[in-house]
Amino acid sequence: MRCLVTSARPYDEQFLSAANHGRHELVFVETALSADTAFIAQGYPAICPFVDDTLDAKTLETIARLGTKLLVLRSTGFNHVDMPAAEKYGITVMRVRDYSPYAVAEYAVGLMLTLNRHLHKAYNRVRDGNFLLDGLLGFDMHGKTVGIIGTGKIGQALARILHGMGCHLLGYDTVANPACLELGVAYVPLEELLVKSQIVSLHVPLLPETRHLMNAERFALMPDGAMLINTSRGPLIDTTALIAALKSRHLGAVGLDVYEEEAELYFKDHCDDIICDDSFERLLTFPNVIITGHQAFFTSEALTTIARTTIQNLDDYSDGKDNPNCVRSKG
Ligand code: NAD
Repeated sequence: MRCLVTSARPYDEQFLSAANHGRHELVFVETALSADTAFIAQGYPAICPFVDDTLDAKTLETIARLGTKLLVLRSTGFNHVDMPAAEKYGITVMRVRDYSPYAVAEYAVGLMLTLNRHLHKAYNRVRDGNFLLDGLLGFDMHGKTVGIIGTGKIGQALARILHGMGCHLLGYDTVANPACLELGVAYVPLEELLVKSQIVSLHVPLLPETRHLMNAERFALMPDGAMLINTSRGPLIDTTALIAALKSRHLGAVGLDVYEEEAELYFKDHCDDIICDDSFERLLTFPNVIITGHQAFFTSEALTTIARTTIQNLDDYSDGKDNPNCVRSKG
C-alpha cells in the first residue's frame, strides 16, 4: 500500500524502513495531520499517524474524501481519533495493541526514583562542584504503599517491578488482573487507594469517564507529601487542580511524561519560541515536578515492535485478513 507516515521523526523512518519488506511504499513527512494539513492525504489510501496528529471529524472527513481508507496508528492509545467519525467515513483504524509495557513501566519507576532521590538536582549539583547532601534526602521504596490506577499490561509490568522492590501494592481497575492478584496487589475502591498510597501511578486509558480522573477532590484524598506519576495521558489530570495542590504544598512530588495540552508542544523543538502555555510554564517552576516530553515508550525494543506491528497491520488490511489490532468505537 502507499502509506503516508505523518509526524515522522528520523527514528520512525529508521525503524519502519527496517521492518518494511518492500511490499508497501512508505513516504515520511514531518507534518502532523490536522484539518489544516489534511490535503497532504491526497493519493494515500493509508496514513500512519502518531499521537500528536489531530484526527478529528473534520480531518477524517477530508482524508476520506481524498481517498484514505486506513489509519495505522503508531500508538496503543487511540483517544486522538474520533472513532464514530472514522466509522461514518468508512476509515478502518488499526493500532499497536501492545509493544513494550516494560518501556513505560520502567520509565514510571525511573520518575519515582528520580523524584524520591532528587537525582535531577544531584546531577546539576555535582557538576557545580557542590557535594552537599542537604535537600537530597529520600525514602526507601521498600515498605511503601504504591497505588496503581489501571492494572492492564503496563500496570502489571509496574506491579512486578515494585513487588521486587518490596512495595505494598494497591490496585484500582474495572477488572482485576489475575497476574496482579498473584503478585499481591490488593484491589480497592479508588478513594481508598488515594487515601492509603504514598505514590500513585496512572495507567488507565484516556476515555470520557477517565478525563480529569485526578481532580481537586481526589488530590485532597491523597496524604500530604504524596507523589503522583502520569505516564498515560495528560487529560487524566486536571492541570489547574494539580497546580493548586502543588502551590499549597499538599502534593510532595509529581512526575509527568504526558501533559494535558501537550499537542501544541511535544515532539517539536521550541527552544527559540516563546511558550505561551502559562500552566505548563508554572509547572516547570516547581522544584518537585519533573516533566518529560512523552518519551516513556521510547526504547529500541518498543520502536521495533511498533514498526513490525504497523507493517503487519498494512499486510493484513491489504490481504483482507481479520486482525485484533482493529479499533472499534464500542468494545
Ligand atoms: P491496557 O488496556 O492493557 O490497560 C488499561 C487498563 O485500564 C485495563 O486494565 C482497563 O480495564 C483499565 N481501565 C479502563 N478504563 C478504566 C476505568 N474507567 N476505570 C478503571 N480502570 C479502567 O493498556 P496499557 O497497555 O497498560 O496502556 C495504558 C495506557 O498507557 C494507554 O491507554 C496509553 O494511554 C498509555 N501509554 C503511554 C505511553 C507513553 O509513552 N507515555 C506509551 C504507551 C501507552
